[in-house]
Amino acid sequence: MNLARLLVRTAATFPERPALIHGQELLCDYRGLALRAARVGSFLRHDLSLAAGERICLWMSNTPEYLEILYGAWFAGLVVVPINLKLHPREVEYILQDSGAAALFVSADLVGQSKNWAGQPRLRGVFVPGTLDYARLYRAEPMAEPLFRAQDDIAWLFYTSGTTGRPKGVMQTHANLLTMISCYFMDLDTVSPDDGTVYAAPMSHAAGMLNFPHIIGAARHIIPRSGGFDPQELLELAEYHGRLTLFAAPTMVKRLVDYVEATGADPSGFRTIVYGGGPMYVEDMRRALRVMGERFVQIYGQGETPMTITALSRHHLGDSEHPRYLERIASVGVSQTLVEVRVADAQGCALLQGETGEVVVRGPSVMKGYWNNPEATAQAIRDGWLFTGDVGSFDEDGFLTLKDRSKDVIISGGSNIYPREVEEVLLQHPQVEEVSVVGQRHDEWGEEVVAFVVTKDGRPIDAGELDDLCLQTIARFKRPKQYRFVPALPKSSYGKVLKTALREQLAAG
Ligand code: AMP
Repeated sequence: MNLARLLVRTAATFPERPALIHGQELLCDYRGLALRAARVGSFLRHDLSLAAGERICLWMSNTPEYLEILYGAWFAGLVVVPINLKLHPREVEYILQDSGAAALFVSADLVGQSKNWAGQPRLRGVFVPGTLDYARLYRAEPMAEPLFRAQDDIAWLFYTSGTTGRPKGVMQTHANLLTMISCYFMDLDTVSPDDGTVYAAPMSHAAGMLNFPHIIGAARHIIPRSGGFDPQELLELAEYHGRLTLFAAPTMVKRLVDYVEATGADPSGFRTIVYGGGPMYVEDMRRALRVMGERFVQIYGQGETPMTITALSRHHLGDSEHPRYLERIASVGVSQTLVEVRVADAQGCALLQGETGEVVVRGPSVMKGYWNNPEATAQAIRDGWLFTGDVGSFDEDGFLTLKDRSKDVIISGGSNIYPREVEEVLLQHPQVEEVSVVGQRHDEWGEEVVAFVVTKDGRPIDAGELDDLCLQTIARFKRPKQYRFVPALPKSSYGKVLKTALREQLAAG
C-alpha cells in the first residue's frame, strides 16, 4: 500500500478541512493539498520521466511545499530522501551521489550553499520551491491516483551517520512507516480534524514523521513563518490555533519551558508535546510537567526502526503517586504495541529484567536494510533482530531505561554527532598525532562536543585553525566547542582509547 493513499483518502472524506497553514495564513484545504501532490507526482513521472523506485532528495528547511513534495513523490512511486538541513554541502553531495538522486528539491535559503550539482551524474533536475520555475510543477496534469507500491517497497531513505563516518541510507519501506503510524495511534495519541501539528523541528526527521497521523486524522499542518524553533512564535501559534501537537527534542522542551516560566505565556494551546531523540533528564521532565502541565509523551526510536521502539505515555508521566514514578520518568517507557523489544548480550541472547545489555528490536517497523550496504545490514540485523547500539535495562513492569549509547553518539541540541567523523577531520591537521572526541553534558544542548588532542610536538594548536579545518568538510554544529591538549590518551591493553575515562575526566572538571 502506497503512503500517498493516506492523503487521497482524507482528501475525499474531508475535502474542505484546512490542511496547510503558514503561520496564521491558510494555504489550502485537503482537496487542494492532494491536488498539488498529484500534480507534483505527475510532473516527476511524466515531465521528468522518473521511474518508480528512483530517488529524489529534499534538502530543505521547513517550508509549506515540503508535504506536497513528499506525497507527490509517493504518488509517482518514488523514494524520498529528506536530508538534514544542517549538513555541510559536501555531506549533501555525498548523499546525492550515494542515493543516485534523480532530482533535488532545495529550499531558497540553502540554494546558495552549493553549486556543485553538475557533478551528479543522475541528477535530472534541481527545483527551488517558491520560484517561478517551481510553479510549473503545478501546471502538470494531476495523476488520477498513486502508483501501486508493495509493502516492501522503499518509501523513505533516511541517512544516518555511521560510526565509520560514512552516512548510511536506512531503507524505510511503506510497511515500516505504516507500522510506525499504527503504533502512534495505539501507544501515543489520538488525532481528530480539530487538531493540528506544528513543524518546529526539521521535517527531515521525527517532526516530519508526525505528518502521517495528522494526514490520517484530517488535522492541520502548520509551518511556522520562521521555519524553525522559536519559543515565542510557537506559543503564539499554539494560542492562535489551539489543539496543537509538537515534536520537540529534549533541548527544545527545555527552552520552551524556560520561556513559559519567564513570560507566563499560556501553554494550553499545545495538546501534546512528543519528546524524544535524546535523553531527557528527570529534573528537566519534572519541571516541564510542573510549568506546562500534563501534555507530554515520550518516544524512543531510531532511523532503523523509525520512532518505534518504546513509548512513555501521558498516563505514566502523570501518575506521580506511583512508587516507582521517578524511575519511570527517567525511562523511555514500555515497548510499542507492534514490536518486540529485548535487552540482549553480545550474542543476542535475552537478558533478565534488571540486567544491562544492548537494546534489540524485532517487528514490522524494522528497516529493510542499509542502501547498497549489505555488510552494514548484516551487522545491524542478526537473526531477525535489529541491534540498536543503545544500552539499557528493563524493570519488572516492562519499562526500559537507557544507560548509555554503545556507539558513543553525541547528541547536541537533538542532532546526532558521530565522534569518528569529527576525529577523522581533525586528524587531517599535520600537527595532530591522535584525537578522541566525546560529549560533555551541557545544560542547554544536552551535550557538547569536546576533542582531546595529542599534538606531534606537544604544543597546543590554535583552536581557530582546527575550527577552520572542521568547517571545510563537516556541518558547523559538529565541530568541537572545546579542545583539550593532552600528552597522551588513556587506552586499554588492546590499545583502544577509553572514552569512558575521558568522559569521567570531563565530569570531574
Ligand atoms: P536517529 O537514528 O538519528 O533517530 O537517532 C536515534 C538514537 O537517538 C537512538 O538510538 C538513541 O540513542 C537516541 N534516542 C532516540 N530517542 C531517545 C529517547 N527518547 N531517549 C534517549 N535517547 C533517545
